[in-house]
Amino acid sequence: MAFRPTLRRLLGRDSATHKDAEATFRRVVEHSADVICRVAHGQFCYVSPSALNMFGWEPQALIGTDGTHTVFEDDRPIIEAMIGRLMSGQQNQTAVQIRVLCGDGSLKWVETTARVEAPDLACETILVMRDITERKRLEEELAAMVLQDGLTGLANRRAFDQNFDREWKRTLRTGGEMALVLLDIDNFKEFNDLYGHQAGDNCLRTVASCISELARRPTDMACRYGGEEVVVVLGSTSLDAAVSIAAEMRFRVAALGIPHQGSTCANHITVSIGVAAAIARSGGSMKMPEGLLQAADHALYKAKAGGRNRVEQAMLNSA
Ligand code: GH3
Ligand code: MG
Ligand code: MG
Repeated sequence: MAFRPTLRRLLGRDSATHKDAEATFRRVVEHSADVICRVAHGQFCYVSPSALNMFGWEPQALIGTDGTHTVFEDDRPIIEAMIGRLMSGQQNQTAVQIRVLCGDGSLKWVETTARVEAPDLACETILVMRDITERKRLEEELAAMVLQDGLTGLANRRAFDQNFDREWKRTLRTGGEMALVLLDIDNFKEFNDLYGHQAGDNCLRTVASCISELARRPTDMACRYGGEEVVVVLGSTSLDAAVSIAAEMRFRVAALGIPHQGSTCANHITVSIGVAAAIARSGGSMKMPEGLLQAADHALYKAKAGGRNRVEQAMLNSA
């Protein structure tokens, strides 16, 4: 192993001091939990022993290769761009986060810091690879929590706002249609008053899970919109199709048979539903996608006024 350019810079040329320092330096590198590598002429010349522990790679097996086969395919462009920046002299140190293929076929997130030590023809570079899999898992968990409703596990209002807009833009691009289903539990205040807030929470969870089971396509998204209201975004869905999904939701919630003696329309929990759909078309005057939400809300109001436990609909053409 040789880290001579770095050592020479750090220690000068006294050969005894230099040897001691190199031995110390080697021990540090070889006992580091990070994987430390030296690359010259685009090939690994040294890989520290921790590669076996961290990735299940035999260090020797990497020597003489460019290491590309150890990088997850989707992340190879990141490495290629990094090499480009270092080779061109645009940067002499950089860090990237990539997924690495371990010996057992699993993937690990790795932060790779690369520093050019000798910017001559060999372009000698030191790589320090740190396992950040756990950090990434926590980051992903946190990001998901920010978009999830704590009580029901459905997407929350923030997630709805993001997804609703994105789905409408996609609808405009594809020239298709999009539907929205807005559900509200009937006489829910009365349910809480009669059975208690805890029973109310349990009821909300059960109803939410029943609804989300009917919104499973990749372009569907069920979100807790407010207290006892759920909104379902149905991408690439016509009004007729959305109305049948809503009818099935109404039926399944009623079939749960959650007793509700204070209901004005049944003796169990029911939902009222407003459905709206829009075809993406230029020339409309309604502000979208908010107009779709207003139309669904209007249809829901009609369902409530018509006696609850029913589905009402609205169609609008817009741009
Ligand atoms: P309607 O049929 O017209 O929708 O009547 P409603 O009683 O369902 O509607 P209202 O808006 O008057 O009351 C909604 C109730 O939902 C009031 C509130 O206590 C309850 N609620 C909202 N969020 C939660 C929650 O997280 N847990 C529980 N247990 N109750 C909630
Ligand atoms: Mg309500
Ligand atoms: Mg209600």
